[in-house]
Amino acid sequence: MVDATWGTGEAPRDVLGPVSSGPAFDDDHPPRADLIADCVHCGFCLPTCPTYVLWGAEADSPRGRIYLMNSGVNGEPLSDSMVEHFDKCLGCMSCVTACPSGVKYDRLIEDTRAQIERNHSRTPRDRALRAAIFALFPYPRRLRLLRGPLRAYQRSGLQKLVGRSGLLDRLGPTLKTLESLAPQLSGVPRPPRRVAARGKRRAVVGMLTGCVQSAFFPEVNSATVRVLALEGCDVLIPPSQGCCGALSVHNGRKAEAQNFARRLIATFERTGMDYFVVNAAGCGSSLKEYDVLLADDPAYASRAAAFTAKVRDLSELLHELGPVAKRHPLPVTVAYHDACHLGHAQGVTTQPRSLLRDIPGLSLREVADSAICCGSAGIWNVLNPGPAAELGARKASNVLATGAELLVTANPGCLMQIGAAAGGKIALAHTAQVLDASLRGLPVSALVKSTSA
Ligand code: SF4
Ligand code: SF4
Repeated sequence: MVDATWGTGEAPRDVLGPVSSGPAFDDDHPPRADLIADCVHCGFCLPTCPTYVLWGAEADSPRGRIYLMNSGVNGEPLSDSMVEHFDKCLGCMSCVTACPSGVKYDRLIEDTRAQIERNHSRTPRDRALRAAIFALFPYPRRLRLLRGPLRAYQRSGLQKLVGRSGLLDRLGPTLKTLESLAPQLSGVPRPPRRVAARGKRRAVVGMLTGCVQSAFFPEVNSATVRVLALEGCDVLIPPSQGCCGALSVHNGRKAEAQNFARRLIATFERTGMDYFVVNAAGCGSSLKEYDVLLADDPAYASRAAAFTAKVRDLSELLHELGPVAKRHPLPVTVAYHDACHLGHAQGVTTQPRSLLRDIPGLSLREVADSAICCGSAGIWNVLNPGPAAELGARKASNVLATGAELLVTANPGCLMQIGAAAGGKIALAHTAQVLDASLRGLPVSALVKSTSA
C-alpha cells in the first residue's frame, strides 16, 4: 500500500494507475529506502526540473518521482502510469545540484530504470523503437556506416527537397527529429593509435573516442588530441575501444552497460595511462561510476575502481595539469552551455569557463536558466520529440539572447539539440575546438565557419 502520509500529499494516488502485475521491484538493487528517506519534500528541486517546468505536475517532478519510488519499495506494483513518469525523467540531474539535503536522485533513478527494464512489459512500438536505437547508437562502426549516405543526402540537395516536401511530417516525429538532429558532416580522418606529446611529456592519457562523437563529430576528437598533445600529453587511442555503456546504463540496460564497461577497462588498463580523458559529458558521467556499475563483479570490482579514479573530463584534466602551450588571441563572444552530465552529474562547471576565459580576446557570456536541460538527454529527444523540441526552443532562445557569436559546450547531444533548435542562427563548437583554435593561432572566422550548424 502507498503510505498516504508520505510526502506533501500532492503526489496523487491516481498516478499509480492500472497495474501490470506483481510488486514493482525485485531484490536486485531496488531504489534504496534510506536514499528515498533523505528527501524532506522541501520542493527546492521543482523549479529546476525540466519536466516540472513543462507540465507543472507533481508526479513529473523529482519529489513526485521519489514518492512513486517509495510506493514501489512499499510493495505497490508497477503501473504503466508510474513507468511513464519515470520514463519522462530526462536524467539531467538538475535536481541533484538543487537539492539542499543531498538526495542521491541519480542513484535512485538509475536503480529504478534497471528495475523497469527487467520487470515492466513495454508496448510493441516502444520495444521496437528501443531495440532499433540500442542496435545502432552504442556501436561506433555501425554509426560510421551511416556517414556516407548521410553526407550524400546533405550535399545532394535532397535534404532541402525533403524538408520542403513535408514528407518527414508524414513519416512521424521520431524520424523527423533524427533527421533534424544530424549535424553537417565533415570529412576528418580518424586519429592514429598513439599521438606523442609536443615538448616535454607531462602525462600519458587514454582517450575515449565515443560512438556519436566519433561518427558525427570527428573534428572534436581531432581537436581534443591536438590540444592534449600540445599540452604535453601522450594520447593513446586504441581503435577497438567500443562504447562506454553510458546510453545503456542511463536507460536501465544494466547488463549491457556492464559488458561495455568490462571491455573498455580491459582495453585500456594495460596501456600504462595516467589518466583516461573524455570529451563527451554523458560518457564521462557514466565512466566515473564504473566502480558502482561493477561493484558486484568479483573479477572487475577493483579494476573498475582503479579505472574510475583515472577518469577526467577534458576540461578537468587541462585545468589540473595547468597550461604550457601558448594561447593565441581569439576575439570572439562565446555563450557557454553547461551540458547536464558535465555540470550537474560531474560538478564540472568552473574548469571549462576558466579555460575559455584564459584565451586572450575571448569574451564569455552566461546563458539564462542555465540549469535547465536543452532536451537532448541521451536518447530522450528521440523518445520524446515534442517536449524535447520545446526544451530545445527555450534553450536556443536563451542562447541567442546572449548575443554571442559562438555557442560552446562539451557534449555531442547538446551540440545537435541546440544546433537544430537554433536553426543555424549561431555557430557551435566543443570546448576542445575553441582551445585548439587558440593554440594553433587560427582566425575566428575559421572556427565559426567550420562549426556552424
Ligand atoms: S533528473 Fe532532471 S528531469 Fe529527472 S527529476 Fe531530476 S531534474 Fe527532473
Ligand atoms: S530538493 Fe531534495 S529534499 Fe527537497 S524535495 Fe527535492 S529531492 Fe526532496
